[in-house]
This record gives sequence, structure tokens and C-alpha cells, in this order.
Amino acid sequence: MAESIDVIRSLIGFDTTSSRSNLDCLDFVHDYLDEHGVSATVFPTDPQKANLIATVPGRDGATTGGILLSGHVDVVPAAPAVWTATPFDASIADGRIIGRGAADMKAFCGIVAAWLTRFAHVRPRWPVHFLLTHDEETGCAGAHAIAPHIEQLAPRVCVVGEPTGCEVATSHRGCTRWSTTVRGVGAHTSDPALGVNAVHGAVALLSALTSIARENADRATVTVTSINGGTAENVVPDACTMAMELRCDSSSVESEIEAMVSRAVACVDTDLRAQHPQAGAEIHTVVRVPPLTAAAPDRSDRVVSELIAVLSPDETTAGSVRYGTEAGIFQRLGVPTVLWGPGSIDQAHTVDEYIEIAQIETCVAALDRLSAWLEA
Ligand SMILES: [Zn+2]
Repeated sequence: MAESIDVIRSLIGFDTTSSRSNLDCLDFVHDYLDEHGVSATVFPTDPQKANLIATVPGRDGATTGGILLSGHVDVVPAAPAVWTATPFDASIADGRIIGRGAADMKAFCGIVAAWLTRFAHVRPRWPVHFLLTHDEETGCAGAHAIAPHIEQLAPRVCVVGEPTGCEVATSHRGCTRWSTTVRGVGAHTSDPALGVNAVHGAVALLSALTSIARENADRATVTVTSINGGTAENVVPDACTMAMELRCDSSSVESEIEAMVSRAVACVDTDLRAQHPQAGAEIHTVVRVPPLTAAAPDRSDRVVSELIAVLSPDETTAGSVRYGTEAGIFQRLGVPTVLWGPGSIDQAHTVDEYIEIAQIETCVAALDRLSAWLEA
């Protein structure tokens, strides 16, 4: 327990706001694990960001298969001026650790790191992998980047330690965000026929998107979140950008709606190009967080159901959660994936974010049961 709390406090001490580098934080975890005989590798995604994978091999030396425990070390921004505590210098009060990321999700990351140093002395029947990712909060870029390595590790099952109150959650909606750019041709408004109005093109697209949203309201949400176009009151606008997002709980519905959106953009593009060769419309994907689908985990899969029983012996389940996570990315690799971790999502992203020490105790006890299960 004391060790877990120390590691959690150390992790909170690194300002790993998604806009900043996470390399110092990962170096700390790497060196801490290394000192305790757990081998870890840092995988740089770019000069500022990396993921980390540590593996405790199985008793037969296997380093693939087994169990993956996964967390992200990036956090949402914290404005010290509005905190009563210090966001990146963890404090303890009233049975809580307070600091940015305490709940989401450095408690899980710190507890697993501390647990691995003990687990390294167990001779487990399967390997255990520990993944730390970057940029989860801004669209899961780290998990997307590390996915090929996870595919090679081929874990039997994955636990993403988002704060579920140590209850197993098995589904959440996916979220896709797009940015579209409508290009027109600028002209003086005294003779608008000399130009092509990008805002008019965007309005046509908006109308198509509104229809798509209405037609699919029973199975998805399609929301236009911003529109920006035009520069002056006497200029035909030459550009208009629009941001939008789709949320739904099924990959196939996601693909269907994505195709509808692409067709709507293509239609506007054709229309604009007919007016002028420089005009047109295009779309690109900014964020893709796939859904975690309720069909998995397959409870008839013995390893998955035993693991769930180890983590949550009274079978309490959080079912579906409202927020998106990296879990769907691992599930798409064919890895049965659940959410399970200490703390409450209600504290995530809040001012004076905290985790109850009682939740840390619950999590540590569950990981000790995991050790016993894997040692058997
Ligand atoms: Zn999180």
C-alpha cells in the first residue's frame, strides 16, 4: 500500500498534460521497474511523446499472450489558480490523494507499477504486460501508435484501468471527429457571381448532415460542433471549415454513417467544382476512438470470465460507461478488453481531483488476487 501511494504521488509530480512531453514520466517508470528487475521498453512516437511496455514473462519464459494491464499517463490541463490543492504536487488529506490525474488515471498506473515489482517474483503461468500510453485525452494517439506492438504481444485479455470504482465495465460508445473544409473563390460582394461562396457550400453540407443526424437519431448522435467562414462584410467567403462528431456504440453503424457523411461531402464537392475548378469540399478524420462493444468480453471465454471474477469477486458490474477509452482500439486487435480500475469518473477532469485511499486498497487487494490466480 505505502509503495503504491509513493509511486502514485511520484507520477502525479510529472506534469503530463497532453500538450506536454511525457518522456520524463516514462523514464521514471522505466527506471523504477528496471531497479526491481522488471524489463520495460519505451517506444517513442515522436520527439516529445512515447508509450511504455513492461513484461513479466510466464514461468515457461513466454513473453507473448497472457494479460495486458493498460493505462494512460497523460492528463487534462489543470489551472493551479482555481485549485485549492497543488495539481502536480500530490497531497494527502481526508483519506484521499489529491492531484491532477489521481483518478484518471495515475492511481491505476502507480498501483500496477508497484505491484509488478512484487509480481516479478511470482512464477506466473502466463506473462503480464503493462502498457502506458500518451495522448489518450486528446484522441488516443498513443494507443493507435502502439497498436502494432500490442498485436505482436497478442494478449489473451486486456484490462484498461479507467476509474470504474473497481467494477468491471464492458462497453462504451465510440467517437469519431472530422474536420471539413469547404473551398470557394473570393470576390467583391458587388458582383458575387465572380466568386463561389464557401459559406453557401457549407450550408448545403450542414443541411445534409442535419438529415443524417435525424435519420440515425435512434442509433447514433451526429453533431456539428463549429463553423467558421468569411473574412469581411463585403467579401464573398473563399473558405468555411466545419467540425463534427459522431458517437455510437456499434462499429458497423459507425462505418455506415461515416459513408453517409463522406457521400454528403462528395456531393457538395462535385457541386462546387462544377462552379469553379478551385472550389470543392474535403473531409478528414481528426479523432477516432472506436466503441467498446457489449458483445465482448465473451463470458464463455474461461480466461476472461475467471479474470473478471478475480477482479470483481462479487460480480458487481458497471456495465456500460458514458465516456470513451482506448479499450475499443485493443478490442479491434482481437483482444477481449474490459474496463476496471480504482476511483470514480466523477472525479476525473475536476478541480482538486482525488482518489480515495480505500479505492487504492481495493485495487491492490484485487491485484494480489490476480497474483495468486496466475501463480496457481
Ligand atoms: Zn482516462
